[in-house]
Amino acid sequence: MAKIRGSVCRLCRREGLKLFLKGTRCYTEKCAIERRNFAPGQHGKRRVKLQGYGVQLREKQKVKRLYRVLENQFRLAFQEASRKKGVTGELLLINLERRLDNVVYRLGFAASRAQARQLVAHGHVRVDGRKVDIPSYLVRPGQVISPRSRLEKHDALVASLEQARARGFPQWLSVDTAAVRGTVSSLPRREDITMPIQEQLIVELYSK
Ligand code: SF4
Repeated sequence: MAKIRGSVCRLCRREGLKLFLKGTRCYTEKCAIERRNFAPGQHGKRRVKLQGYGVQLREKQKVKRLYRVLENQFRLAFQEASRKKGVTGELLLINLERRLDNVVYRLGFAASRAQARQLVAHGHVRVDGRKVDIPSYLVRPGQVISPRSRLEKHDALVASLEQARARGFPQWLSVDTAAVRGTVSSLPRREDITMPIQEQLIVELYSK
């Protein structure tokens, strides 16, 4: 399983943006971006104006870190998107959004994508009633996602579900909070991804 070592808040500070990697803490004033919104390290406060390759690289790193995928997986996702008909950057983001670990997070079964990935990899998630333990599995419209029955009443899951409900669920997922299950109503559209991302920069980076 992909592992990111060290403080994940450093990743947000490097990108200068909340990537919501730590669950509940990200919504409190303890968030490192709220307290120290400058790059980590000795020279972090220095203002560096990035251009060309630097800007493209930062954009790719931002998206990779947001969805918590490693370089190889990200490159494979890009290659997959570039083989399909359509706008490559948008297809890349849509496929990342369709990943089962991301969907589990969006449905509120986990407080963060890292936690969601762990739930999936440990076999705690069902797709149409069948165990799927592959975090990169891409969900399809009509599929029903639910946690393993013994997890439904787990305190951590109930708390994350409540927080996700307060934040609002994405339009492409319909969630039954009482039954603790979510249905993929449609494929996500580009406008459903609200993080500030310029996917064209990633396409330019990989097209060099
Ligand atoms: Fe990022 Fe969350 Fe840490 Fe804030 S608390 S810096 S959003 S991981």
